[in-house]
Amino acid sequence: MKIHEYQGKEILRQFGVPTPRGTACFSVDEAMAAARQLGGAVWVVKAQIHAGGRGKGGGVKVAKSLDEVRSAAQQILGMHLVTHQTGKEGQVVRRLLIEEGAQIVKEYYLGMVVDRSRQRVALLASSEGGMEIEVVAARAPEKIHKVWIDPVAGLRDAEADAVARDIGIPAAALTQARACMQGLYRAFVEKDAMLAEINPLALTADGRVIALDAKFNFDSNALYRHPEVVAYRDLEEEDPAEIEASKFDLSYISLDGDIGCLVNGAGLAMATMDIIKLYGGSPANFLDVGGGASKEKVTEAFKLMLKNPKLRAILVNIFGGIMRCDVIAEGVVAGAREVHLKVPLVVRLEGTNVEMGKKILAESGLPIISGSDMADAAQKVVAAARGA
Ligand code: GDP
Ligand code: MN
Repeated sequence: MKIHEYQGKEILRQFGVPTPRGTACFSVDEAMAAARQLGGAVWVVKAQIHAGGRGKGGGVKVAKSLDEVRSAAQQILGMHLVTHQTGKEGQVVRRLLIEEGAQIVKEYYLGMVVDRSRQRVALLASSEGGMEIEVVAARAPEKIHKVWIDPVAGLRDAEADAVARDIGIPAAALTQARACMQGLYRAFVEKDAMLAEINPLALTADGRVIALDAKFNFDSNALYRHPEVVAYRDLEEEDPAEIEASKFDLSYISLDGDIGCLVNGAGLAMATMDIIKLYGGSPANFLDVGGGASKEKVTEAFKLMLKNPKLRAILVNIFGGIMRCDVIAEGVVAGAREVHLKVPLVVRLEGTNVEMGKKILAESGLPIISGSDMADAAQKVVAAARGA
């Protein structure tokens, strides 16, 4: 689960990471009131969306008067902000962060992710802040410094200081940089994050080190123990199809392709997407209906897939272990009837009661294309999507 920058900064402050003072706003009037309240002579008006690259897309503006705050807020609120992470339609800006301006001398990068192969949280740090870390990784990988943090000891003072020196933080600011790194690590662990980034971490003209941006992504499997994190959820930033799916306990992820996939089990769903790709097709979604899918769940799954205007064909791939093939076949028939299915449907069934399942499909009168195994079904659905 992702959150907004201003929410991420609230968390960082709780863990002792310095940030500029700021206020989240939902209107131009609120933005003006916030700027007056903050005082000072320079403000930053920042679009709050769940995507990075806002600066380049015109979603971050420095204002040197209250009039400039007003015009920046007017421009940014309601705009379709397009960044490399939003897709070309962009994301509508509904919230702003008004902050006191910082005088930046140098921008650094700090990030944390779980490194599964090392079974540790990795701290990534770079002198090349402000730009995307993927670009640094491609152009100058030697400029990314890494520490794999010992889960028992935590991030040691000496480790933090060494990284700070490696990325060129001046000696006078080492203690502050250490507080930023250790605070970020404690926030990461205590809040069950999967990814946390401060980009940029800025060195200011008065020699301070502060977090100018904050990005968090939390492990949804751990949200049950963090109601305070769940309270940060902004449904308007999430894919409507995925929200709808979560209501029916379906694991659904929208993708770019045109072949809908309805599968039981996450592993089989991944394998199904792979084999569609292998035969030259492209999946429209990941969809795991789970081990105990009912007729209702399968119908909802069909409805979800059909909301996608790009959809050209559907592949149902079921292995009936706990799930019986006859139950799934009834669900498929009921679902296809209810939604008046217009796109070709390929079904591959295997497992418990498979013969009964196939019989139900064959006798349904629906134009279902039967796949004998995964490869056969994938080839048939790719051909069907192409209109062959
Ligand atoms: P992102 O583009 O979505 O990652 O948004 P950021 O919050 O990182 O802002 C983009 C850039 O705006 C930063 O790299 C800074 O260069 C600049 N910026 C952000 N806050 C301030 C500020 O207080 N003062 C100045 N001068 N620039 C800022
Ligand atoms: Mn940033």
